Amino acid sequence: MKIKIVLGLVAAAAVAGFVWEHGAVRQLQEDNAALQGQLAEQKAAPAPSAADSAAPEEIKRLREEHGELLQLRGEYSQWKTKAAVSSLEIEKLQNQLGGARQEVLRQAEVQAQETARRNTDAAATLARTAAVSQANECINNLVKINGAKEQWALENKLVNGAIPQDRDLFGPALYIAARPVCPAAGNYTLNAVGAAPTCSIAGHTLP
Ligand SMILES: [Zn+2]
Repeated sequence: MKIKIVLGLVAAAAVAGFVWEHGAVRQLQEDNAALQGQLAEQKAAPAPSAADSAAPEEIKRLREEHGELLQLRGEYSQWKTKAAVSSLEIEKLQNQLGGARQEVLRQAEVQAQETARRNTDAAATLARTAAVSQANECINNLVKINGAKEQWALENKLVNGAIPQDRDLFGPALYIAARPVCPAAGNYTLNAVGAAPTCSIAGHTLP
């Protein structure tokens, strides 16, 4: 009886041991499978790249670039403002230049008119002077003609009313060597003794 129990216990222990061992093996197998799976995953996962290892430096670089970008944007904004101001200044200067040019043209026009007026005045003065000079010369001719007439009447004992001809007064051997010519191309009329000789030009008159 005791032996049976012992045998039974041994048998039971053996069975139990087998069962435990069996369970342990299965557990080990499962653990092993899990580890294998993890290993496979790690192998499948990409190796840590240089970029990953350099990530802080990359971020630093990007931050610096961002800073530079902001600075450039600021400079561009300032440049744009300056460009706009310059554009306005250029427009202002162009307007001033246009105004100055118009002023120069206006003054040139005024000067041209003034010069023309002075020239006209000078020409008129010259013409008046020439007219006076011609009138004086013509009147001088009329004085000579009148003197010749009086001398002709005296020498020929003629009275007033006698009308001389050219051949009576003008000739190398007569009172006046050649018939006088009005400098303004007027025509002389000898008229009768006692009356003044006349010129057809107004103002060419004996006083
Ligand atoms: Zn005259």
